[in-house]
Amino acid sequence: MTISGKLYFDGAWHQGMGGTYHAVNPATAQTIEPAMTKATKLQVEQAVAAAQRDSLAFAKTSASQRANFLRECATQIEALGDELVDRISAETGYPKARGEGERARTCGQLRMFAASLDNGEFVDARIDTAQPDRKPVPKPDIRFMQQAVGPVAVFSVSNFPLAYSTAGGDSAAALAAGCPVLAKGHNSHPGTGELVASAIIKAIEICKMPKGIFAYLMGDDTEVGATLVQAPAVKAVGFTGSIAGGTALMKMANARPEPIPVFAEMGSINPVVLLPEALKTQAATIAKGFVASLTLGTGQFCVNPGLVIAVDGPELQEFITAVQAELGAVGAGVMLNERICHSYSNGVNHFKQVPGVDVLAQGQAVSDAAGFRAQAYLLGTSGQNFVAQPDIHEEVFGPTSMLVKCKSIDEIPQALSVLGGQLTGTIHGTESELAQHVEIIDALTAKAGRLVINGFPTGVEVCPSMVHGGPFPASSDMRFTAVGTAAIQRFQRPVCYQNFPDALLPDALKNSNPLKLNRLVNGATSDAALS
Ligand code: NAP
Repeated sequence: MTISGKLYFDGAWHQGMGGTYHAVNPATAQTIEPAMTKATKLQVEQAVAAAQRDSLAFAKTSASQRANFLRECATQIEALGDELVDRISAETGYPKARGEGERARTCGQLRMFAASLDNGEFVDARIDTAQPDRKPVPKPDIRFMQQAVGPVAVFSVSNFPLAYSTAGGDSAAALAAGCPVLAKGHNSHPGTGELVASAIIKAIEICKMPKGIFAYLMGDDTEVGATLVQAPAVKAVGFTGSIAGGTALMKMANARPEPIPVFAEMGSINPVVLLPEALKTQAATIAKGFVASLTLGTGQFCVNPGLVIAVDGPELQEFITAVQAELGAVGAGVMLNERICHSYSNGVNHFKQVPGVDVLAQGQAVSDAAGFRAQAYLLGTSGQNFVAQPDIHEEVFGPTSMLVKCKSIDEIPQALSVLGGQLTGTIHGTESELAQHVEIIDALTAKAGRLVINGFPTGVEVCPSMVHGGPFPASSDMRFTAVGTAAIQRFQRPVCYQNFPDALLPDALKNSNPLKLNRLVNGATSDAALS
């Protein structure tokens, strides 16, 4: 397919009327053709109006129709073949294998939501039958289920051109729920976004879905995003990116006459605690795993291990020596764009200037090769200094981690206590020392959405039991996950029907149980029909 640089809304491609810009290959700093066009405020409003118009019709499609649609989206994304992965590499600097992996993940994710629609778990159907003779007052018939919230604005992120972008987790969850998606592409990978949009559009045509249920909008300033969040017909927002971006959108959404939820997945430094016995026996193995996790994708993962906490001593020194050897072999990796590359080097330089912070290990220096590249670092500081310096608790997005050397094991929960919310918390220890230090596991649990034992946080499995979220600022609402089938709950709201005639009830709640759902009937799970 020829990339046109156009926008898509209300069932047609449109030339953006807000000017043009070019994507840039971060490995070469060269611009990529063609020119991409930007949406005006009016065009965003037209897209929102089309989504609003078709919102009810889409919400009323059956779960199996939407499941087929999601499967067709996956098939059409796969049908884009090498053109898609090549464009990802050109726009992000990712090796081809990364693009292929992300495509598999994205299509698997769409199919996983389809399976969840098939088994009906997302409906959460509950029925309390009437008791007309109840004293002192009769009990009405009450039936509860989850329904689509309406149009959702989805913000693509720089570091996941597929899995958290146009057809990524937020879009898949919203479409599964029956919500139209207004996808704002990311200016780092607009061509990738357009290719994926074309696949979704084919799926809409094949599955005969209403044409307003999907829009692909581009812009390289905040106007497109701000217009989406402020549009009265938009009912929720899915976002992955910076704390500054996420909190700006949260403020905007709260200032609306009708405030709406913003499900933002933002910053996290993902503490990794290394207990002494584990270091004694495994320092070199842990160091190898840590460096691989730290430098994967040039450290541009929200679950990158940006903080290591351990007790100072000879075992920790052995770990540092092993990290020096491993990191010394790591070349300066390509970063996603110039802005991210600059904030990375600014962040590292800032950390290095904080009193009491030392460079413990480093990757190969950035050469004069073209493109936007980053040198990896392990910095170090004492437990006391870490607790006293809030500046070094922040995320430096890229391949840098801070090792906090505690005087004793008792300092570890204290170091953890000063952190904000986290996506993950990891602990390495032998079975017996883990059992002895439940207080450290408790301290990590208080902060993080996902706890990892004897592993590393990178590599988020997409499965129904995954939690990718956590207390602020890891996410804006710690009650929800951005990955896994439970992510659909962000784009649903409960509705209950009181004393409805059977014929007017949604199928999920009808007496005959035509969808054969497991329902909570008078307090007990049952898939039986009601008399
Ligand atoms: P970003 O700067 O937060 O931008 C993400 C998206 O939100 C872009 O489409 C951007 O639009 C939009 N946006 C940001 N602020 C906005 C505002 N005030 N109003 C309206 N729209 C707004 O994230 P990014 O470009 O992906 O990466 C930049 C930084 O984010 C990184 O350096 C890193 O620190 C962080 N990041 C964190 C994670 C994570 O999961 N923790 C992942 C990726 C990046 P425009 O580009 O059109 O302005």
